[in-house]
Parts: sequence; C-alpha cells; structure tokens
Amino acid sequence: MKFTDRVNKVKPSFTLEMTSRAAELKHQGFDVVNFSAGQPDFNTPDNIINAAKKAMDDGLTKYTPGSGMIELRNAVCKKVKRENDLDISSEQVLVSNGEKQSLYLACQSLFQRGDEVIIFKPYWVSFPEFVTLSDATPVLIDTSSANNFEPDISQLEAVKNNNTKGVIINSPSNPTGAVWSQEKIIEILKIAEENDWIVISDECYERLVFDGQNIISQKLADDNNIKANIITCMSMSKTYAMTGWRIGYAFGRVEIIKAMSKIQGQATSCANSIGQAASIEALTGSQVEVENMINKFKKRRDYMVKALKNIPEVSCPTPGGAFYAFPNFGYYIEKSFKEKTISNSFDLCDLFLNEGHVATIPGDGFGAPGYVRFSYAIDEKTIDEGINRVRKIIDKIK
Ligand code: PLP
Repeated sequence: MKFTDRVNKVKPSFTLEMTSRAAELKHQGFDVVNFSAGQPDFNTPDNIINAAKKAMDDGLTKYTPGSGMIELRNAVCKKVKRENDLDISSEQVLVSNGEKQSLYLACQSLFQRGDEVIIFKPYWVSFPEFVTLSDATPVLIDTSSANNFEPDISQLEAVKNNNTKGVIINSPSNPTGAVWSQEKIIEILKIAEENDWIVISDECYERLVFDGQNIISQKLADDNNIKANIITCMSMSKTYAMTGWRIGYAFGRVEIIKAMSKIQGQATSCANSIGQAASIEALTGSQVEVENMINKFKKRRDYMVKALKNIPEVSCPTPGGAFYAFPNFGYYIEKSFKEKTISNSFDLCDLFLNEGHVATIPGDGFGAPGYVRFSYAIDEKTIDEGINRVRKIIDKIK
C-alpha cells in the first residue's frame, strides 16, 4: 500500500508507545512502576462527572455549534477573566476535541509549505509534527537546563529569515516542567511583534505552577503594550483531570479563530456535547479539587526531585510546574550494563523498563539527549519504589 508523503513524514507518538509497552508488561502480570504518565492520576472531580450525567439526562446528546456551545465559550471567557485577568469575547474562542486539536488547527490555518516555525528543545513531541503536517518546516533551537531551558534571544535572531512565520512556546513545559521567566516571554513576544510572527502559546499546564503566580503570555503582552499576534491554547485535561473527555480550547483574533473553526467544522464537526457540558461546570464551578491537586503535585515534586538528586551523578533542576521532572542521566550514556553499551536515553529507558519494570520517557525523543522524563502523577510510596529500582540498575552500570 502506498501512503501519502504526509503519512511517511509524520512520526508516531513515542510517548504513547512507551505507555503502551508499560501497560503490556502490567497485563503480563508484572508489577510496573509507571513514571511515563502524561496525565493526572486523580479522577475527574464529582461535580464535573455529575454535570455530564445531567447533560445526558437532559438530552444534550446532539451536535453542538462547530466552534463549541455558546454557554461553554462564555464559560471560557469568565474563566479567562477570573484567572488570567483578560477580557475576551465568545467569538474569540474555539472549543476543540482536546487542546491538541486546537494546536493542530492553529498550525493548519497559519502555516504552509515554505514557512518556518521556531520550536525550542526540549519540545513536546507533537510540536514538530504539527508543523510538519502543515507542510512548513520546524526550526529547532537548543536550550539548556543551566538557563531554566530558556532560549537566548540571539538564537532567535540567528535563525530568523523572511520565511519565519511563527514560534511555539510552552510554559510550564512538557517535558521539562520549566516555567519560563516573565522577562523571557516578554522578550520573545517583542521579537514576534517586530517580525510579525504568530505566537502559538501552549498553556495547558498554566494552573499547575508551584512557586508564585503564573501569568499567561497574552496578559504579559497586554500589560507591556506588545501587539504580538498570540493564539492561546488551553486544556481541560490536566487542570481538571479530564484527559479522556477530550476538550480543549483556543482563543485569539477572531479571524484566526474563524479559520480554525472552518477546518474543524469539516474535520470533526464539533467537540462532544457531554464533555462540553461537563467543561462548563469545570470552568465555572468549585475549584477546590483543583487546589487540592495542585498542593499534592507540589509535595510530590519536592519528593521526586529529592529522590532523583540522590542518584549518583544525576542532576535534576527543580521544575516550577506541570508534573514532570527532567533529570540528566548523561553520565551513564556510553557506559555499559552487563557488557551491553547504553548508547542513548532510549537504551537507558529500555533498561529501566526491562530490568526494573520502571517506565520512563527517554529525553532523546524530546530532542534532549541524556535526559529522562519522570512523571510524578503517582503517589509518594510508588515514587520511592520506582526510584529504588532505578538506583539498583544504576549501581550496576560500569
Ligand atoms: N500540550 C502539551 C504540552 C501537552 O503535554 C499535552 C498533553 O499531554 C497537550 C498539549 C494536549 O492536551 P489535550 O489532552 O487537551 O489534547
């Protein structure tokens, strides 16, 4: 069977692959410690589940307007006012089947062949693929843990050319958990304004910030009188433990939202009606469970970072947000375990999985050789068990 260049070019999601390998081992009866999860381990709060049940009983089981129920788009406006201190109108909002679809649609609407889009390493695996699927070219910029994974503006100056159309930012970040400084985001917004680049700001972890208050890019732009063209993408998935419900949203200039909505209308019609009704409750109802979850994640972050730092020759910056730690295991690359060379972080993570039944995600897949992503969407006791197993393997590496 001959497939299109599009299929041949796009890479499968290797994070999903690691998760399925861990699930397979578990299915075979092994006691797997899973640090690979990209989702909260908590269940969706009851008030949200009850809203979904009520929606079904009330017959909200039909197609909704393509860009989302007006009640949900209004709820997004209320949330954005309450939490992000921004005034937006419902026309500026698009509700999608998960934020992933909003991000995909933004790239489909704004980029095409010949365009270049700047992405920072380590990147969330889907960013380069979204750009590639729009036929544009991802331009990757290195960052380092010593600088909180923030780029230097001279790096953006060095890669920019007449084809540069946009930049994708993601703070707090998956995979690093880094929360970029406001100054850095402002610098990037300014260069975007000067060069007329679109900024796609993936803010799906905006609520999961543990030290101080997070200010989203659009607010930073407004407060500093920067007129950069920003598409903000947010998700119900992480904040409300709603990954399976598949609801996310984007807001930005009306004409861009309309363009995205036009493609969505042909691709999937609308997001699911029950998930949308539940999301209204999530955004406008009690936020107590969200606060509880944030507090738990903060404790686990400290626990996880301490445990990882105890592994010899491993360094681990303290992530400011999300639920990932991103330690550097570079010291162990090119060393061997039972006579077999560990050539990269894929080999190292294979070792953790096969020898210790510990699932992690190799940094190489995020453009970060030597690093490994550990999710702490898992309780402290299990963190202990998993890190002990890793430690035992590490002790045998020569
Ligand atoms: N953006 C980032 C950085 C993510 O980590 C994820 C999910 O893992 C998403 C977007 C997608 O979120 P959603 O579940 O709303 O599609």
